[in-house]
Amino acid sequence: GPKGALMLERRAAATPKGLAKSTEVVVEKAEGALVWDVDGNQLLDFAGGIGMINVGHRPETVVNAIKDQLDKYIHTCSLVTTFEPYIELAEMLNRLTPGDFPKKTLLANTGTEAVENAIMLAKYYTKRPAIICFEGAYHGRSMLTLSLTSKYSLFKKGFGSFVSDIYRLPVPNLYRTPAGMTEEQYLNWCISNLEHAFIAQVDPEAVAAFIIEPVLGEGGFIQMPAPFIQKIRELCDKYGIVMIADEIQSGSGRTGKLFAIEHTGVVPDMMTIAKSMGAGMPVSAVVGKAEIMDCTHLGGVGGTYGGSPVAAVAAIEALKILSTPEFLAQATHVGALIKTTLDAWKEKYALVGDVRGIGAMCLVEFVKDKTTKEPDIELAMEVLKDAVQHGIILIRAGLYSNCIRLLPPIVMNDDQLHEGLAVLEAAIQRAHA
Ligand code: PMP
Repeated sequence: GPKGALMLERRAAATPKGLAKSTEVVVEKAEGALVWDVDGNQLLDFAGGIGMINVGHRPETVVNAIKDQLDKYIHTCSLVTTFEPYIELAEMLNRLTPGDFPKKTLLANTGTEAVENAIMLAKYYTKRPAIICFEGAYHGRSMLTLSLTSKYSLFKKGFGSFVSDIYRLPVPNLYRTPAGMTEEQYLNWCISNLEHAFIAQVDPEAVAAFIIEPVLGEGGFIQMPAPFIQKIRELCDKYGIVMIADEIQSGSGRTGKLFAIEHTGVVPDMMTIAKSMGAGMPVSAVVGKAEIMDCTHLGGVGGTYGGSPVAAVAAIEALKILSTPEFLAQATHVGALIKTTLDAWKEKYALVGDVRGIGAMCLVEFVKDKTTKEPDIELAMEVLKDAVQHGIILIRAGLYSNCIRLLPPIVMNDDQLHEGLAVLEAAIQRAHA
């Protein structure tokens, strides 16, 4: 529409070209699973601003908590004063995260900062320099976290040199099991490769941490099989390495458990949480074993805005919603509905190579040919643009940018889900024509 077009022109003139956007939607307001643009169009939100709106846009309790907080004080800084929202959110996270050992929580503003702090704490605690991360990983765009991030084309290109002492291992992406291997053989190879790295790549005594997303987010919703995660846990225990689970995208109830690693039975030593925890407010957390979190000298951690009271009260209310059995059951229900629909597409459409996901974290992968599995980036783009024009907000994913991921607010009802998926399917149909 005309108002939106004008805003997009202003965006292009006033902001850097590198700041990409997956849609041309210019937002006026949002509520629940719906977004309205400045020209009066209503859209169904299947992106949730990259999975940060699991509780839906503007739940009443979150909005009221923010308003109440604004009437008291906006910020006084945790490095100068103490305020209850920081403490209460830390207590909640210590209680809600897996592990029955004493835990402590450091709050920050973005996922990037949470990962940055987790790695720094792991290095300080172990007095070791090296980190092991994985192919397809996304951990942020600060220099340390960008170094941990895997994908070059979209994220790393042009920004080197990167931080040293980082080692990257393959993950069992079973859809892309090498020719001549069964999925089981490939999984076993990936598992044995974890230990092989201590011969071929880095001395285990030099490794501070393994960092892994239990379900790869940007990397294309690849769930790490339980035996793979269990082997990492075993190696961490054997060599005194800190195990960090990055739950920034996979956590906050998305997969039907509050944290995706709960599907594996493994308890990490540290966890990073952000996105949907804040219901849209910028707040993140590192939750970890108390002895690790306490390891630095006094003043070794913290920042001006970390745990901002306005953001913290939003997160407290969001977590109250996210952690209920009803919400987690709804995530499982939303996921089952989406997955059933997507499974049929895999049979029906020649260019849908794979559909996968766990809980309400589902995705469609486009290929030029089902046998060669050559990624079809252009097709994914075309489908996305078409579907957005017909009223749903979407984002891509995957190491090859050839997937469309679905991260709708968990409050999206069945009618809205069916309606949105029908729009996406129609776009896929047109792309095949
Ligand atoms: N880790 C993961 C798994 C993520 O998905 C993201 C964001 N996509 C980040 C870290 C970085 O978070 P932020 O963009 O809030 O810095």
